[in-house]
Amino acid sequence: MRKMRRKGLASMAVQTVASTTDSAAANSVDLGPAAALSCRECGHRVPLGPVFACEECFGPLEIAYDFSAHDTEELRKRIEAGPANIWRYAPLLPVPADVATKPNLNPGWTKLVQADNLARELGVDAGKLFVKDDSGNPTHSFKDRVVAQAIEAARAFGFTTLSCSSTGNLAGAVGAAAARAGFRSCVFIPHDLEQGKVVMAAVYGGELVGIEGNYDDVNRFCSELIGDPAGEGWGFVNVNLRPYYAEGSKTLAYEICEQLGWRLPDQLVIPIASGSQLTKIDKGLRELIGLGLVEDRPYKIFGAQAEGCSPVSTAYKAGHDVVRPQKPDTIAKSLAIGNPADGPYVLDIARRTGGAVEDVDDGRIVEAIKLLARTEGIFAETAGGVTVGVTRKLLESGALDPSLTTVVLNTGDGLKTLDAVAGTGLTATIRPSLESFREAGLV
Ligand SMILES: *Cc1c(COP(=O)(O)O)cnc(C)c1O
Ligand SMILES: [Zn+2]
Repeated sequence: MRKMRRKGLASMAVQTVASTTDSAAANSVDLGPAAALSCRECGHRVPLGPVFACEECFGPLEIAYDFSAHDTEELRKRIEAGPANIWRYAPLLPVPADVATKPNLNPGWTKLVQADNLARELGVDAGKLFVKDDSGNPTHSFKDRVVAQAIEAARAFGFTTLSCSSTGNLAGAVGAAAARAGFRSCVFIPHDLEQGKVVMAAVYGGELVGIEGNYDDVNRFCSELIGDPAGEGWGFVNVNLRPYYAEGSKTLAYEICEQLGWRLPDQLVIPIASGSQLTKIDKGLRELIGLGLVEDRPYKIFGAQAEGCSPVSTAYKAGHDVVRPQKPDTIAKSLAIGNPADGPYVLDIARRTGGAVEDVDDGRIVEAIKLLARTEGIFAETAGGVTVGVTRKLLESGALDPSLTTVVLNTGDGLKTLDAVAGTGLTATIRPSLESFREAGLV
């Protein structure tokens, strides 16, 4: 049945496997503790290389690690003594040990904000609600975490051009990281994205191509390009480098637990585009438990989507384990993936942990952006409006327990989605005189 769920990857997999099995470097690359690629569906293992789908069953490949050498206390000390960015977790990531010395953007170690004002508004117990604010990353979204991993894989496999299909934030993250690391970049986005995202993606000097279509069209185009001589030597961070890229999201799990004093949160609310981030946060939490860095306690994972692009929450509510693609129509463009690759795994995780997947409409997204700004001084992009809006909805329905430690992710910066709050502006326009100020009724 799982094989059926992943049919779309089949044609891409064959081409990619065929073009990379002759890569002599595949067995000797140094990506730290990464030992091999392993199929998520059937467990088939292949050497590290730029492949992303299993040659046996077309299931997605992910990194298998050898963590056996780690002593828990030593590892904890080493992490705590590390740099204030994701490389403090280098021993748990598919990167060489000296990664921190290479030119990259050093993302991560973003703020975990104790959101007591928001908690009060939402009826959550004092001290229990936190916002993990990833707008503080170098290109102002969580995507810097994943691109930083993909860059190391691209170096290891000898790619010279970095590329991606993007809903906006990834394009900027790839452009910036490529500029700093000395790669050429050529990235693809839907042509009608928010201006903030287009400028952010273009300013780093790489090539930026708008595709007439939605994200799923862009993604399909990139799959074709990978199989074509025109795409030879190109590392697509979220396609042929996807197994490496995806691991970057584990750092959100590591940081949240370390920032809580090496404790698991009880509940997490995570946005879903392709579902990769949510899936890998779960993987990161399980690794910390396995390594003895946190106590093994239950946690619940909640997925958040916009109503106008809610293939995963629709499947969740219907009790399905197959995700039916949708045509997105929402202001939350960074989450507008109608055919999410990791959708089925998100369903598994929400159900296994006792969480849920919920969605909110555009009106509630805008309200939630303003609520978070007004209560905590955090200006989130629409994806943050989705998680805060879904948090509110889940509290109202009783699915989220207001007495438990809850972490809500804000994955991007409101400056990139200004249109969403376009009605927000001047309270009054006055002449530069006290008289005029009084007339405006503000005193
Ligand atoms: C890409 C993105 C996500 C999550 O993407 P996944 O494909 O589910 O990993 C979340 N928020 C923002 C702002 C993003 O750009
Ligand atoms: Zn397989």
